[in-house]
Amino acid sequence: MINIRDEAERCLQCKKPRCVKACPISTPIPQVVKIFLEGYIEEAGDLLFQNNPLSVICSLICPHERFCEGNCIRGIKSTPIAIGAIEQYISNFYINLFEPVIDKQFKGEIAVIGGGPAGMALSSYMSQKGYNVTIFDEKAKIGGILRYGIPDFRLPNSILSQIEDKLKSMGVIIHPLTLAGPVLTISDMFRDGYDSVFISTGVWRPKKLGVKGESLGHVHYAINYLKDPDVFHLGENVAVIGAGNVAMDVARTARRNGARNVTVFYHKGEEDLSASKSEIEYAKLDGVNFKFYTSLDEIRKEKLIYVDTRDENKEKEEFKADSVIIAIGQVTQKNLVATTKDLNLNERGFIETDDCGQTSVPGVFASGDVVTGAKTVVEAVAAAKRTANAMHYYIQSKNNKDYNGEPLYATVDFDEIQSQLTNK
Ligand code: SF4
Repeated sequence: MINIRDEAERCLQCKKPRCVKACPISTPIPQVVKIFLEGYIEEAGDLLFQNNPLSVICSLICPHERFCEGNCIRGIKSTPIAIGAIEQYISNFYINLFEPVIDKQFKGEIAVIGGGPAGMALSSYMSQKGYNVTIFDEKAKIGGILRYGIPDFRLPNSILSQIEDKLKSMGVIIHPLTLAGPVLTISDMFRDGYDSVFISTGVWRPKKLGVKGESLGHVHYAINYLKDPDVFHLGENVAVIGAGNVAMDVARTARRNGARNVTVFYHKGEEDLSASKSEIEYAKLDGVNFKFYTSLDEIRKEKLIYVDTRDENKEKEEFKADSVIIAIGQVTQKNLVATTKDLNLNERGFIETDDCGQTSVPGVFASGDVVTGAKTVVEAVAAAKRTANAMHYYIQSKNNKDYNGEPLYATVDFDEIQSQLTNK
């Protein structure tokens, strides 16, 4: 087990910390470590939560080897500082003690559509600025992909409930089981007095594989399986198609739910898997098998047929599979697009925004997976933080016009907004 104090003491307190530079949300790691070692754990926690309200979640599920730890100077000659474990220790201790300071000088109403990572983060940032925030969520509880797409053994739901309670204590209203789009539209929200709307509906529509047999009864999509694994009866032999963290989550969940043989099929080699190294290692520890350089050709009852991608002249092979779970990604649902005039999508089907998260509809912002496609939680929080600053600027300046009669927000440079707000 990692000794947190020993790890913190190994930190060199770099003047130009590579760990911070590599962190999408610039977590002030050396400062946090320093004050933690000086005995000020609450102040260290405050620094973490002020910067990132989902710090406790990121400490658990961030791919640290890609960001902070993968760039820590200590890692060049020996092992990097276990930054994730230090953040986990401090933020887990501090989550119930964190009392956000609410700035009373700003007023306005914000509608947040989708209570996943980006929605929760933006709600926290905007309520701290003083705005009234209402989250409309399709599900019974907020958390989005964190609650309904990441297994409990990786991220306990109790943490999401703690964050939900924290948001409620800040005055955030949660409107559950409300699918914005078909009934309640964005124009209804503007009519009812919201100053700005934030779309953070994520990506929930599974991508199809497009092979024969995909509609058979024993074939499922990862995102549906992860929502409620207990309702699926997978049998003993499970094949998982995919290479990312979602595929690893599915494989590990299936093993824990009783599947004896779980095999991940991937058309390239192990070095090309997009899942984080730690998730691949955990999958192996959980007894998940891998079949690399295999491409699915057809799914039949109780088996699948695959080809060797390195030698397509080779005979097709069969693999016994009581269930097949497809985990090759998700795309956006189109509910809001269909009912919001002029809301543009990019060529990949995601909502088009500028660097501030402003969509093609004035006052409507978006960030997170619905803009970028599935990415990490810390990237969604970082984007929501930028968007919160831009939304704040938009609301404060929407009635001020420049000399061309354009609303001020339409002509300002994003970096300028950022520096004005950070220097405030
Ligand atoms: Fe500490 Fe490593 Fe960051 Fe340097 S790069 S400040 S040693 S955690």
